[in-house]
This record gives sequence, C-alpha cells and structure tokens, in this order.
Amino acid sequence: MQESTRFLSTRDYDVRRSGVPFIDAVLEGLSSDGGLYFPKSYVSLQEELMALPENVDFIDLAAKMTHGLFSEDFTLSQAYEFCHKAFTFSPALTELNQDILLLELFHGPSCAFKDFGASFLAVLMEHHLMKYGTTCTILTATSGDTGSAVAQAFHNVNNINVAILYPSGRVSPLQEKQLTGVGDNIFALEVRGTFDDCQRMVKEAFEHTEVARMYNLSSANSINIGRLIPQSFYYMYAWNILRHKNNNRWMFCTPSGNFGNLTAGLLAMRWGLPVLHFLIACNANDIVPHYLNTGHYVPRQSIPTLANAMDVGHPSNYERMYTMYAKHVQEKLGLSDIASVQEAQVHQAMQGELQGICVSDEQIKEEIHTVYREDGYFICPHTAVGVKASKDFLKTSWANTHGYSQVVVLSTAHASKFSEIIQDVTGKSPQMPHQLTHFLHKKKVSIPTDPTLEDLVDKLHYIHTIQ
Ligand SMILES: *Cc1c(COP(=O)(O)O)cnc(C)c1O
Repeated sequence: MQESTRFLSTRDYDVRRSGVPFIDAVLEGLSSDGGLYFPKSYVSLQEELMALPENVDFIDLAAKMTHGLFSEDFTLSQAYEFCHKAFTFSPALTELNQDILLLELFHGPSCAFKDFGASFLAVLMEHHLMKYGTTCTILTATSGDTGSAVAQAFHNVNNINVAILYPSGRVSPLQEKQLTGVGDNIFALEVRGTFDDCQRMVKEAFEHTEVARMYNLSSANSINIGRLIPQSFYYMYAWNILRHKNNNRWMFCTPSGNFGNLTAGLLAMRWGLPVLHFLIACNANDIVPHYLNTGHYVPRQSIPTLANAMDVGHPSNYERMYTMYAKHVQEKLGLSDIASVQEAQVHQAMQGELQGICVSDEQIKEEIHTVYREDGYFICPHTAVGVKASKDFLKTSWANTHGYSQVVVLSTAHASKFSEIIQDVTGKSPQMPHQLTHFLHKKKVSIPTDPTLEDLVDKLHYIHTIQ
C-alpha cells in the first residue's frame, strides 16, 4: 500500500515538511500563508490504470483512483460510497469528426464541468462535518457558472449552508434562476454592485477572523485542491476508452481560464497517465500562451469575450502550475530543494509539455457555425475555443513532427447555456437538457445585499438564525 498523498503550500514548499492531509487541505481551501496546495509527492496509479476494464464506469474508476491516492485516509469501500454519492452523472466521449473527439463534461446538474469538482467537495465536506458534529457556511462569489455548480452540489447537504454572492443584473436570466431557484440551504445574495464587489466582500469576510470563526466560513472555489482531484479522473476515463480502440496518436486540449482544469490534467500525468503533452486553448486572454512563447508572465485586466467563463487576466492556478513544474525539475535534476530551481528551467519544462493557442471572438463564432454545418452538433463558446485551437494545432509542423493526428477536446459546458450566441450564429437553438428546463419555472428568491462587509455579516447572521 502506498502512502496517502499529502499537500504542501506553494508559499512554503520545504520538501522536508510532512505536508497537510487531504481533508485538511480541502477544508482550509487556501493555505493560511496564502498559498495553494499541491501534492508533496506523486503516488503511481499506473497499475490501477492498466487494470481498468474496457467499459469501466466513471464511479468505478473514480473510486479506485481516490483509494489509490489516499489509501490511508479512505478504504476502497468508503471511496466507492463517496463517488457513488458524488457522481450521479458521467463524462461521455463523442467523435465529432476524424480529427476531433469531444469529452463531454456537461451532463451534471449545472451542465458544466465544474459539477465534478463541486460534487466531490460536497460529499467530502459533509462526511467530515457530520463525523465531528460541526457545521459550516460556504461563502462564494460568482459571475455565473461556479455559483450554479456549487448551489447544485451542496443542495440539501447536511451541516452546510451556502451563501452565494452574485452581481445584480449582471448574470444571464438562466444563470440567475440556477442560483436563486434552488432554495433550502442555498442562499442567493443579490449584491447591488459588480462581480469585483462580490469577490472583495468574500475576501474581507474571510480576513475578518471573528466573522470567519463565528460562521465557520469555508470556500468552494477553484483554488481548492479538492475540486481538482476528481477532474483528473475524467482525463483517465477518456484515455481508457481510447487505448482500447484507437491506434492514432492523440492529445488532450483544455479550454482554459483559471487553469484548474489543465492543472487536473497535469496531476493525472504525474500520477502515471501515459500522455506527454497538453494543448491549452485560450480566448483573447492569452497570459499563459504568451508566457510559453516568451518566458514572460504578464498578468493584466481581463478582456471580456464570448467564452466568458475563461475571461481571466490573472489565472489563480498559475502559481500552483509553476510550483509543480519547479518541483518536477528539482526531482529530475536531483537538486536538493525547489527554491534552487531557476525560472528559465521551469519555463523550459513547461514549454516541453504544453502548447498554447489563442482564439478570437470572431473565430469562436465561425467555429460554432462550422461545427454545426459540417458535423450537425452544437458546441458552447468555450468548447469552440478548444475545437478551433485543435484544428489549428493539427496543422502545425510541431504536431506533424510529433505524429499527432487527433485531439480530444474537453467540452466544458452544454451549448444551450449560451443559446443567445448559438441562435445568433446558427439561427437555431440547441435542445435544453432537463436539468436546465427544470429551472425555467422556478421562482427567483434572493436576498438583496449592499456591497459592504457590514451588510454581508448581517445577512450571514440572518441565514444562521433561520436555519
Ligand atoms: C470555468 C470554465 C472554464 C475554464 O476552466 P478553468 O479551470 O478555470 O481553466 C471553461 N469553460 C467553462 C464552461 C467554464 O465554466
């Protein structure tokens, strides 16, 4: 039996430290020193991967890998119990055409890939809180997508209340219904302000030690390592299907904004998934591709695009990616510690494994249209970024020299979540899945909130007293 994976902070990564157990890293979210958690060492899941049957179902795979990663924390049957509860939906691999396959990650309750991470997190947190008889309040700010995944995943979860802050009048009508129509232990705080106000209020609440302790505040956002772990499983799932049927050389393409999804792919690779490279697809927010090309990391204000869940000017997972690569170099070169690795060495290591391609709004529209016309399939704007980048990639001499002839694009959301854009481009509307139509008839129930910490605390108090 291998040791359970433990985690270090990106701000304090002395490898002689024993590291933090998984559940502590999950409950803390962000390390107290402000850093992000990454694995102190990588167990090998190669044996588990090679032993997967051809038609393995996702729960089966997820349980085996969870146990493989945290064998001392969860027995195999406990891991099954968690995964069974969390994953009431599964990824699906579809062939779009000869060159492109889509890994559909939108069959969950909010119809976006964030459901995988949020559901797993909800199950883990509930298990832990019930075991110790405590409660917590999840506080999260959303510009749309994260909030609905969190709302669905934590709905009616024991010992947890959720307060979601969203900017009034700035999320789509469907998104608003997904946030305000859930009810029970999910409270939608409609903030008279912007998304930045929402984020600032959440940050201030966490920094206010007294408030944070009084309501036992916890976060469910994408910096939480507990969300990335299950995302690494769907890369394994797709690989397992393809290794049984396909002799082509293929690569994953991950449409990226905060780079959580890409980091999950990197984790899968370090744990033994036999892939060598990833294609990163970005919209006009080209911070990471720019870094790969030049070695200069220049964060800046985000640019609004049609693929709005990827409008990130300062990707929060970059710090984790960087440290993971620094550690990789340290081990490969046999250096004594991570701090002695040079920036240029990290850059070179990333360049060796990652390709980056950017796609404009004009190209997003064209690609949605092309895929509809040629393949009869609706893709969301984020997936369109991935598909366009993949087509461009397959034409490069690099792809040619390395023998790549196919790309598996992570399809991050259902097209009908963006029906205005799809309608505008194709003149048709994609069929809405039942998870979404369900919300069309829901009544909006929100708690109007001023953009101040004071009012947020008032509302937390209210939630606390009525529950
Ligand atoms: C969040 C999101 C992304 C970006 O994922 P990251 O992990 O932040 O890189 C892409 N597409 C959709 C639909 C999303 O909701």
